[in-house]
Amino acid sequence: MKRFSNTVINEADTNGMNLYLIRLGEISLKGLNRAFFEKKLKNNIKLKLHPHHSFLLREKGRFYLYVSSDCPEEKVIRTLKTTFGVVGFSKALVCEKDWDEVVSTVKKIITYPPFTGDSAKNSQNRTFKVEARRSDKTFPKNSYQIEAEIGGVVLDNILELKVDVHAPDLILNIEVREHVYVYTSPISGPGGLPVGCAGRGLVLLSGGIDSPVAAFRMAKRGLKQDCLYFHAYPYTSDMALQKVKDLAAVLGPYLGGTTLHVVNFTEAELWIKDNSKEEEHTLMMRACMMRVANMIAKKNDCKVLVTGEALGQVASQTLESLCFTNSMSDIPVLRPLIGMDKEEIIATARQIGTYEVSILPYDDCCVIFSPKHPLVRPEVASETASFEKMQIDEILERCAENAESIPISYNAV
Ligand code: ATP
Ligand code: MG
Repeated sequence: MKRFSNTVINEADTNGMNLYLIRLGEISLKGLNRAFFEKKLKNNIKLKLHPHHSFLLREKGRFYLYVSSDCPEEKVIRTLKTTFGVVGFSKALVCEKDWDEVVSTVKKIITYPPFTGDSAKNSQNRTFKVEARRSDKTFPKNSYQIEAEIGGVVLDNILELKVDVHAPDLILNIEVREHVYVYTSPISGPGGLPVGCAGRGLVLLSGGIDSPVAAFRMAKRGLKQDCLYFHAYPYTSDMALQKVKDLAAVLGPYLGGTTLHVVNFTEAELWIKDNSKEEEHTLMMRACMMRVANMIAKKNDCKVLVTGEALGQVASQTLESLCFTNSMSDIPVLRPLIGMDKEEIIATARQIGTYEVSILPYDDCCVIFSPKHPLVRPEVASETASFEKMQIDEILERCAENAESIPISYNAV
């Protein structure tokens, strides 16, 4: 039998299962509603590991994840690296309280990441230490002896490693409890809150660098999101659409799966071009996007919009322009990048893997119809009047109605 704070599980249930320890961050600070966040996280992990069988148990602010051994190691690592709520995770092996077994378990665990893998190849100067905890004092070796002897085992088996007890690159943990748990230093997860615990929004996803980062940041706060892309075929190419599909696929695991709604905006763009002043084209287009986004959001039960706008980045993102586009939305518009500069946004884009896709050179519909001298400090009242004067509502409704919805998997690409 293994005991967890509120569950007792049969040894037989865990036979043929691999074990991972998951560290939880902000979730463990939650009060009475902690169970709600934990349940979301458990479901999100189990869903991504499906069809492989898995279950999670909680103890001392950690999750113990058991995964059927037919699930490839890389799939578990990919899953945990892209699931919000996971701060870090370690591969763990469990053995009986027998010294020879402990030693052979240690020899096994150091064949797993992060002891192996890419980082181990450049491991000439990598350091480690062993940290032992012995809550069962009847175990014949004390913590210090365990650390010293297991340290020797590791050094004998990975010749490039050196010991550093103050600032090691890797830590090998040994916990002697009802069994002996041997686990590696944690691989980082993305932190944040489990996707879905903060409701649902609609992110306006262009092919640019900013909006995928905006989606990532809101997902990190637990917001489930659908994605919306406006394209202007044939003015924008199929390649531009493919690029957005590829971005959505990179975001898929972080978002726990999503739906990409694709709106053909050509009719609206041409109407704007013929029925508004040139310097107003971008603003009118932004206003139309807000209107259509509101329609799609309503239809898909999304309570907020998310955009990748940052204050002052371009003419349509001055304070005055943002006030105008805001006024065109009935639901709140969240702009998680509002106070970030481009370098910071790019750093996140690189880290989450969207940057390489975003910089592919296919034009966005905004760029193709953008005026040479756009209005920079528009007045809400006069722009609202210009928008009304265009009488574009029917076209926008048609755009929303004809949107194509593409399911995007939560499995990493
Ligand atoms: P990005 O790098 O995200 O494209 P940007 O700096 O190019 O941003 P804009 O083109 O003004 O800025 O777009 C601002 C925001 O409007 C984008 O971050 C995105 O949320 C939304 N947006 C722009 N174009 C589109 C589009 N074609 N489809 C969906 N959303 C769009
Ligand atoms: Mg853009």
